[in-house]
Amino acid sequence: MPKYVYDFTEGNKDLKDLLGGKGANLAEMTNLGLPVPPGFTITTDACRRFLEDGGLPEGLDEEISRHLTALEGRMGRRLGQADDPLLVSVRSGAKFSMPGMMETVLNIGLNDQSVHGLVKQAGGNERFAWDSYRRLIQMFGKTVQGIDGELFDEALEELKHGRDDLELEAADFQRLVETYKGIVREQTGQDFPADPHDQMRMAVMAVFESWNAPRAILYRRQERIPADLGTAVNVCSMVFGNCGMDSGTGVAFTRDPGSGHQGVYGDYLQNAQGEDVVAGIRNTMPLQDLERLDKPVYDELMKIMETLENHYRDLCDIEFTVERGKLWMLQTRVGKRTAGAAFRIAVQLADQGLIDLDEAVTRVSGAQLAQLMFPRFDGDAKTNKITTGMNASPGAAVGKAVFSSERAVELAAAGEDVILVRRETNPDDLAGMIAAQGVLTSRGGKTSHAAVVARGMGKTCVCGAEELEVSTKERRFTAPGGVVVSEGDVISIDGSSGAVYLGEVPVVPSPVVEYFEGATDQDDELVRAVHRIMTHADATRRLKVRANADNAEDAARARRFGAEGIGLCRTEHMFLGDRRQLVEDLVLASSKEERDQALAALEPLQKADFVEIFQAMEGLPVTIRLIDPPLHEFLPDYTELSVKVALAGDRAEEKDRRVLAAVKRLHEQNPMLGLRGVRLGLVIPGLFAMQVRAIAEAAKAVEGARAEIMIPLVGAVQELEYVKDEAQRILAEVGVEALVGTMIEVPRAALTAGQIAEAAEFFSFGTNDLTQMTWGFSRDDVEAAFFSKYLELGVFGVSPFESLDRDGVGRLVRIAAEEGRATRPDLKLGICGEHGGDPDSIHFCHQAGLDYVSCSPFRIPVARLEAGRAALTSAESDTR
Ligand code: PEP
Ligand code: MG
Repeated sequence: MPKYVYDFTEGNKDLKDLLGGKGANLAEMTNLGLPVPPGFTITTDACRRFLEDGGLPEGLDEEISRHLTALEGRMGRRLGQADDPLLVSVRSGAKFSMPGMMETVLNIGLNDQSVHGLVKQAGGNERFAWDSYRRLIQMFGKTVQGIDGELFDEALEELKHGRDDLELEAADFQRLVETYKGIVREQTGQDFPADPHDQMRMAVMAVFESWNAPRAILYRRQERIPADLGTAVNVCSMVFGNCGMDSGTGVAFTRDPGSGHQGVYGDYLQNAQGEDVVAGIRNTMPLQDLERLDKPVYDELMKIMETLENHYRDLCDIEFTVERGKLWMLQTRVGKRTAGAAFRIAVQLADQGLIDLDEAVTRVSGAQLAQLMFPRFDGDAKTNKITTGMNASPGAAVGKAVFSSERAVELAAAGEDVILVRRETNPDDLAGMIAAQGVLTSRGGKTSHAAVVARGMGKTCVCGAEELEVSTKERRFTAPGGVVVSEGDVISIDGSSGAVYLGEVPVVPSPVVEYFEGATDQDDELVRAVHRIMTHADATRRLKVRANADNAEDAARARRFGAEGIGLCRTEHMFLGDRRQLVEDLVLASSKEERDQALAALEPLQKADFVEIFQAMEGLPVTIRLIDPPLHEFLPDYTELSVKVALAGDRAEEKDRRVLAAVKRLHEQNPMLGLRGVRLGLVIPGLFAMQVRAIAEAAKAVEGARAEIMIPLVGAVQELEYVKDEAQRILAEVGVEALVGTMIEVPRAALTAGQIAEAAEFFSFGTNDLTQMTWGFSRDDVEAAFFSKYLELGVFGVSPFESLDRDGVGRLVRIAAEEGRATRPDLKLGICGEHGGDPDSIHFCHQAGLDYVSCSPFRIPVARLEAGRAALTSAESDTR
């Protein structure tokens, strides 16, 4: 039988799969000799079994009992013992942190008898004991029994009658316990369970079940956390931060998660239990103030933070509790941080010698770099600042104020930019947070739910803007000076400074983009850190990075961003605008002369395009793809033209009739599977030849130009051979050399790559079409049509058009790479579908042995970084 329960002394930080992040790190801290309250962890394995079978796995009850007995022995008291109770917390803890998404129940073991025992234990502190008891009923009722939490909150508010939490007395809490028990009875038809073992067992099951709560599912989807991991459960002996003013609870970071600077960063709340801090219920004091309140505890905490940072060699965040002057560590983990801090911290740690530069590169991600490339507010703009809150998650967000999650979702779906404004957010606001451009709260610190979740999502957030009076009911807030912002009014929030502005503030590019654009000024610490990381990633990566660009401007930007060539120049983009007419003439040509005339008109224009691009690329390779999409895309709409001709009757112009006939002739039911790509080249005489000649002439005109001619949509080597023969003849005539290769974007091409490589000098995987044709998903329709359902059902965790489907499309890529190279060992392999700029897909390309990825200019820095990370982290060794 598998081992389902691990004492904290048995685990370690590397067992996150089994013990979850919290459990593994509690074990690690225990083994480091830090003050962790004793306890044990029930594995994710048990959770998975529970969710599959719908009940606790066989043997788990006995295993928990054994561990509980051992814990009771160590603590010298039994769970819920009437005169001297052991109380425990039951907390969720998955492999990946999911803040606030799953359940926690504290103070398990209290009932009408043991509450008196707790009074005794706490030196006669009745207030504390009854407060703890009411918290148990409240949390248990809400999370385990599914009672609406508002009912408890309302009862508490009524009792407070405007008083602060700290003004409530023992008798108030005692009364509240009775009220809460009444709520439980009314809502469930049963009494609150008095048996401590029942409480614990039910809480464990509730935590397991919370893995599949809607908000947890939504969060996982957003964060791309696999749905089948399950959560571990940590059963931990309780320590109390709410036993008086010499007690308290706090959260801290070993360095600033916003800037990366070392120092004391955290929040502390006297006489409170852990949940109060994160929920932002009362405003916290800065951690520095603890030094004044309790110097020995503060000093010990500082020492522990140093130990943790040196041990984990990274920024850690921690949760701790002080129980009557004794410090307890309740959690640690490698802390979330802003994108900017991630770069700064990685370089700082490398400078401190805690990690090397290789590791520094793995500590940041392409997604974080992409975030740093977002624009910021224009510092010179005239603004109307109405208040400043905490700079909880950076970025510049502008949108209409909305006051509920539902409204945020509604307006965002209608295409509006919104800012979600709340007093404080809770896990139920997740959908609104995802839909909004940014989040603004009036309560709660940098560790509040809003701040933690927004940072995790890379969403702009200003929190704790205390001067704002937020009224959710009236859908408005008031700011100092009587400013009233109602739903729909536009506001701008700056997550880097915490400023909140009335109206729209213009935005400017980020300094990181300016650095990539070639700005030499490296005053900015962040820019310096990005430079160090990028330089090392470039030195480390094997994959080359090229750009998808089809004009000189994009090509030039791509070069500044570090592109080492153009991997895809889509020539059809050059036929839009004024030139559309010329293409129309070509398609309508009814004689060889007419066709030649149209081609002759197009050729110099094409040549000029290519000259500009070759010049911009200064001798780097440029892969030019011959025209790909169905020709009718260049002609007028069939229905519109039919109506026009029908209405004109006999007076219809001859030209319109001819065009209509051509459009009708070219009309296809499935144009993406119709006359496009290489098929056009074979069907319309002279079209490809014109393009090849323009490329050759342009290459000849620009010194050092390196052209690569790419044929799209090839499915059979014979198609390629026809076009290649003609291309080579023209190249020879003009007197230039160029590689001729093909896209691999039709499944048959991948499956016959060994044959195709006989004719192709390079392959470039067109994974947009390859995904379309492998899945049978219309790339223009399905994402909007039904992907949300597929994501919900878990058919896939992310759209295969966004991130390469390794099992299906990836398999075809591997087959083609392997069989192509078996025929032609020096076959050059690249990818130019959208996946070329997607971090996970780039790692796949590295593993599959491709030579380069090609992506849009703005994604090039991300691709360079991820290619470096892939070289450092890839489990699979290179296949070349
Ligand atoms: C592809 O199919 O992946 C590709 C790059 O070509 P396009 O997107 O132009 O069809
Ligand atoms: Mg394609």
